[in-house]
Amino acid sequence: MHRREAVPEEPCQCPDCQRFYREHDRLIRENASLRQQQELNWAALQSFRTLAGRVLEELQKQYGDGEPPAPEAPRAAGTPAIEAGKTASTAAPAPESPEAEAIHQAMADLENINAHLFSIEVLMERIFDVRVPEEVEQKFREVAGELAPDPLNADRLRLNRLLHQTPDLPDRG
Ligand SMILES: [Zn+2]
Repeated sequence: MHRREAVPEEPCQCPDCQRFYREHDRLIRENASLRQQQELNWAALQSFRTLAGRVLEELQKQYGDGEPPAPEAPRAAGTPAIEAGKTASTAAPAPESPEAEAIHQAMADLENINAHLFSIEVLMERIFDVRVPEEVEQKFREVAGELAPDPLNADRLRLNRLLHQTPDLPDRG
């Protein structure tokens, strides 16, 4: 029985939530100062922007800007347009196909994401300008240690074993 009875409302323990708690705590544990949190979140934001922006560029190159693309496929003389379209194996999907529609929707979504990421960056810049005295950074580390203790810490593992020992364990005696 690992449930802590003192907590009135147990947080959700579904696999997704558990993964989130673990990741949440790991990010606190491994970035336990204000400075580290600033660097972590700045790097996360920038890497997200870089990757999503580059993918959008690639899609725009490949599929056009959402405008109906100009016919680019070279057409052999005398070949009807429809046949030329069918034989061009490397051509992008036809503009009206469901595949192209899905791609263009994804591009619009990515543009929105990038616009939001840019807005977040503008707000975050102010957060990241802040510097605090070492005493405050030390307070961050203390609180981080309380919020997200290392689950593999030897003392903690030993303590957990003691706490979860019950008198009627079969291996006693
Ligand atoms: Zn859940």
